[in-house]
Amino acid sequence: MRFCSTRDKNNLKSAHEVILEGIAPDGGLYVPCSVPAVDVRDMLALTYAQRAKLVFSKFLDDYTEEELESVVDGAYANGRFDEEGVAPLAQLNDSLFVMELFHGPTLAFKDVALQAMPRLLPLAAKKSGNETEVLILVATSGDTGKAALEGFRDVPGTRIIVFYPAHGVSRAQYLQMATQQGENTHVVAVEGNFDDCQRGVKVLFGDRGFEKEMDALGISLSSANSINWARLMPQIVYYFSSYADLVNEEKIELGDEVNFIVPTGNFGDILAGEFARLMGLPIGKLICASNSNDVLVDFFRNGTYDSRRTFYKTVSPSMDILVSSNLERLLFLRSGDDQWVKNLMDALSNDGVYDCGEIFEKIREGFWCDKCDEEQTIRTIADVFDTCGYVMDPHTAVGMHVYQNYLKETGDHTVSVLLSTASPYKFTDAVLRALGKDVPEDTFEQADLLFEVSGMAIPEPLTQLRGAEILHKTVCEKQDMGDAVKAIVD
Ligand SMILES: *Cc1c(COP(=O)(O)O)cnc(C)c1O
Repeated sequence: MRFCSTRDKNNLKSAHEVILEGIAPDGGLYVPCSVPAVDVRDMLALTYAQRAKLVFSKFLDDYTEEELESVVDGAYANGRFDEEGVAPLAQLNDSLFVMELFHGPTLAFKDVALQAMPRLLPLAAKKSGNETEVLILVATSGDTGKAALEGFRDVPGTRIIVFYPAHGVSRAQYLQMATQQGENTHVVAVEGNFDDCQRGVKVLFGDRGFEKEMDALGISLSSANSINWARLMPQIVYYFSSYADLVNEEKIELGDEVNFIVPTGNFGDILAGEFARLMGLPIGKLICASNSNDVLVDFFRNGTYDSRRTFYKTVSPSMDILVSSNLERLLFLRSGDDQWVKNLMDALSNDGVYDCGEIFEKIREGFWCDKCDEEQTIRTIADVFDTCGYVMDPHTAVGMHVYQNYLKETGDHTVSVLLSTASPYKFTDAVLRALGKDVPEDTFEQADLLFEVSGMAIPEPLTQLRGAEILHKTVCEKQDMGDAVKAIVD
């Protein structure tokens, strides 16, 4: 299997090279040159880990059977996810199911990819003849850092350092990171905001002198960036897996179309759904749900992507984004024209806007998109709890509201799956407010109250934080991040 850059079709790479590189040197994203087929029929009798192996094997033909086996077992079969499994379905009514992707160690769907990627990366390094230790540098505003820490924890041949803004994360997020276990995990609080952290990491990646120093210590640098193919590919699996589960539970028949509703930020999760469709899964509509940051809604209406707009901080913060990077992959998949994609991306970075022109109808085919504002998010959490007794986190509620709009506008009652991207216990503040409760100050009291109100079990990873020992206390000034790295690796 060969991969090419969305901005240069002639830049061909094998899978392990793509995983090691992350982003192409021309700034493009890697996509497979041809999309392999998978018959969901072959998945019916398989476990989640085996389903993952089947999908991975189609793309990663330079990994051995044994390697893939160890990757998927480590990620999905060894207790990193709770007993409910990686992607269990809850039924809300005759035609709507919620796929709960939050049963992993950090209570959000990013675990699904970040449990697999850290196991793929050292193997990729080995295949490239690179026997150095891989040092992962991550800047986080809270969620990705924790998921990456858990993913890379004790993975041989890797070490991870996460930088977070000292005064910019929630109490729960701070506790999640500061109590992180694992011999190879490091966490540094930066006296600055998220942008300072991100800038600091970017500077280190571009610093040749720093790279040489690391090289001398037998260390190569990498990132757990969300545009890496190894973070997108694992998300394809749960589209297939949920479909297979629906067949097994006799909710649908093999061959029936299913719609998926995806709370969207960077367009990664929903693009994995597009890959599932290209691989042969019978998907009707991919319904893209945005919060008040609605740049994608306008895009899917009129073909113009215009990032020049106000940025809103919302109760669904993981979707607060103005530039949805993975949309670039859709533009390439539908147009096949690398030069055109490059021109649009140049326009986006120079002017903050691009227009698809004539090909727009082809690009939006199979997608439907709408938004959900703050008040609607809160009201949806309350409504769903009142009518179904089911508690959703704010990101999932955005998807739910958009699905209701979709039903109203189209009357399409095809069986649908709503991707639930985070546990309500990760956003107890907003959820309790939606349910009309006075919200206690303390994170754990909030969790206790949500349990009292909903009866939904408090997830183990949250319980473990109570009284957990603070293991990471390093603080650094924003200009000293390089020194902080050196002090750690020395
Ligand atoms: C990252 C994230 C999203 C957005 O996913 P994309 O792949 O960026 O579109 C939605 N919900 C939650 C909880 C997330 O963490």
